[in-house]
Amino acid sequence: MNANLYALFESRFPDDRTACCIETHEGLYYSWNDIDRASAKMANLLKGLKLEKGARVAVQVEKSPEALILYLATVRAGYVYLPLNIAYRAAEMAYFIDNAQPEVVVCSPQNFGWISQIAFASGTKHVFTLGDDRTGSLLVRAALQSSSFETVDSAPGDLAAILYTSGTTGRSKGAMLSHENLSSNALVLQEAWRWQPGDVLLHALPLFHVHGLFVASHGALLNGSKMIFLPRFDTAEVLRCLPRASVFMGVPTYYVRLVAEPSFDKDLCANMRLFVSGSAPLLTDTFNQFRERTGHTILERYGMSETAMLVSNPYDGERIGGTVGLPLPGVSVRVVKGDGTPCGVDEVGDIQVKGPNVFSGYWRMPEKTAEEFTADGYFKTGDVGRFDARGYLSILGRSKDLIISGGYNVYPKEVESFIDEMEGVVESAVIGIPHPDFGEAVTAVVVTKTDNALTEQDIINELKSKIANFKVPKRVVFVHDLPRNTMGKVQKNMLRDQFRDG
Ligand code: ATP
Ligand code: MG
Repeated sequence: MNANLYALFESRFPDDRTACCIETHEGLYYSWNDIDRASAKMANLLKGLKLEKGARVAVQVEKSPEALILYLATVRAGYVYLPLNIAYRAAEMAYFIDNAQPEVVVCSPQNFGWISQIAFASGTKHVFTLGDDRTGSLLVRAALQSSSFETVDSAPGDLAAILYTSGTTGRSKGAMLSHENLSSNALVLQEAWRWQPGDVLLHALPLFHVHGLFVASHGALLNGSKMIFLPRFDTAEVLRCLPRASVFMGVPTYYVRLVAEPSFDKDLCANMRLFVSGSAPLLTDTFNQFRERTGHTILERYGMSETAMLVSNPYDGERIGGTVGLPLPGVSVRVVKGDGTPCGVDEVGDIQVKGPNVFSGYWRMPEKTAEEFTADGYFKTGDVGRFDARGYLSILGRSKDLIISGGYNVYPKEVESFIDEMEGVVESAVIGIPHPDFGEAVTAVVVTKTDNALTEQDIINELKSKIANFKVPKRVVFVHDLPRNTMGKVQKNMLRDQFRDG
């Protein structure tokens, strides 16, 4: 059987291939036939370039149906898709292109000048452009190609994509993902989240990250479902489209913005079946407010570029706020102590994972890859967590963010949750700042509601009555917003730099 991911989608196309697969915010419709023919044209174009097996196609373009079709075409033609965050500028693009050595680079028409320079200097042979308004040389060249293409025969372990991690804890690493990694995860999620006939996905996530490209798009493609495609998250657009959708996926920031909108209510969600959150921790406050407002319980799940999804709150069972749920079927997740022995219930340790979804290694980083796998084949996620008696996993932060103060371990999430529940607090980030006596001093960066008079001392006093002294911040600073990247991840590196010197 052909293990090519596209062959899996083809086998699940709806009977009526004239049905809508993608509807854009501008009211354009792409049927399943359109997607199939357009991806065939692009696949023929790529094949005609006589690329080597395993050639990388690096893509930095605005979100559009054509961008998704280019992803499908690359996979279909047996090449390796490498999406890049549209926010990256020259220094970052030079790093990624130099590191990945793509044979083909596709960029926005307005970036052609500087990106083509970087690409050609790194040895890239072909640079195409693709705009979000159906412009660019890629489409001009693809238009001349045949609209039928026999999907390339791929082995399960052949690479389908290289996904660079978000760079939250350091330099981004290229996670090598195979056809099997992607298809196994798509199949597991289809079952776990009960995708069903008639589902319509409201797609507001970017296409350069595991969340929007794989979890969201694969779900709809595998289910033969229509996607309503928004170029980006925009609260008003989401509210306008929600009544026609049944599934929505977002990062926590999207949910924060939705509940902040007075007109967001039960009626708008009447047709909705499922709201999924991930990529960063969802505040319990947002989880509760959302439920009160809509009657829907957000399903939080946990995953990463290297593994796609590994743990999810249940569709049918209880969805518990502040947890990411239970390991997905076929995925083995364990929490271990520093010496590798398993932790007991409620004991905090390192989260490790093994399964058909787990990547084969970091692109051209054999030493880093070897370091991040255990002798028995588990991947060390770099996240710290604990299982409760019911088997639900909670994430307490990243091991790199763990604070060691006076020889004691402080888990930032634990302190953050006590601060977050105080009257007047919106959210917080707890970090370690180098300190001559303690090694690291616990420091809290806090966002408060506008109309309150909370002081540093109020927060410290309140915490002293609740948690051990070594966990209580030595210093509390107030800010308007926490720095976040496009996926809603708090950039603790930036906070550490900002508050290092006093
Ligand atoms: P880098 O690996 O370059 O530091 P990154 O880990 O942020 O960046 P991604 O692969 O995009 O890159 O993100 C995966 C991480 O996101 C996970 O390891 C975890 O820390 C975090 N994450 C994902 N989902 C959740 C969730 N539901 N709750 C808390 N954290 C989450
Ligand atoms: Mg990571």
